[in-house]
Amino acid sequence: MFQKFLSGKTAVVTGSNSGIGLGIAHELARAGADLVLNSFTDAPEDHALAESLAREHGVKVRYIQADMSNGEQCRALIEQAGACDILVNNAGIQHVAPIPDFPVEKWNAIIAINLSSAFHTTAVALPMMRKAGWGRVVNIASAHGLTASAFKSAYVAAKHGIVGLTKVTALETAGEAITCNAICPGYVLTPIVEKQIPDQMKTHNMSREDVIAKVMLQRQPSGEFATVEQMGGTAVFLCSPAADQITGTTISVDGGWTAL
Ligand code: NAD
Repeated sequence: MFQKFLSGKTAVVTGSNSGIGLGIAHELARAGADLVLNSFTDAPEDHALAESLAREHGVKVRYIQADMSNGEQCRALIEQAGACDILVNNAGIQHVAPIPDFPVEKWNAIIAINLSSAFHTTAVALPMMRKAGWGRVVNIASAHGLTASAFKSAYVAAKHGIVGLTKVTALETAGEAITCNAICPGYVLTPIVEKQIPDQMKTHNMSREDVIAKVMLQRQPSGEFATVEQMGGTAVFLCSPAADQITGTTISVDGGWTAL
């Protein structure tokens, strides 16, 4: 759809050794961006993944280990990247439990990884973007940044929080050729979702197909999962000239979930 219009730009994508982050990394690289991939692990596969993306797309790709639950490591990630024209705050985890039983350490981890990490990375990236005279911040929120579900207190709070942070970042950078927006995916079949299927099969005594159709996609009117490629395409669009005046808003890619 787009030419290699991101050649010469560097994109840092947090939590990008799997799922949506990896899908976004592929599409940004396809549009010509050099990449910094990240996760909290430092495995040979992480570095091999970087090499394989570099070969596939003909761009520079580095893998930098940093734990997004740790503010100092979030800041160090952007500093080590050296350049950050495009920042995709994607790292995220989930935990499901009623509020009285919700483990405090899970609450703290979800708020740290899904929300505070974006504050820390943005704080270091914005001066770099201002120096470069151009920048894009793309926050990966969720349909749960706009609506709620029972038993997902920390996740829903963090995702609503990142939608708020998106608006503030947009206001603080308005008129500086820097934009900040949030993508709000519905259900996307990635490891975070795949892991929930066996538990749901047990809880509801249902087949895999029924869990997907009657539990997971019950709130997604299209009845279909969104894909990581669609998230990547949306991120690329937000980095394109067509999106120069789109800032401080959310784009739902949720098969109609938030229209209900
Ligand atoms: P995923 O589990 O495949 O990917 C999560 C990524 O975050 C992985 O690369 C993982 O290594 C990384 N990560 C986790 N903890 C980290 C930490 N402490 N430090 C650094 N990296 C860490 O899940 P996904 O579905 O690709 O989720 C990506 C984002 O999309 C998350 O923010 C999630 O909330 C959001 N999202 C997902 C869906 C969905 O249906 N899959 C829907 C809405 C929003």
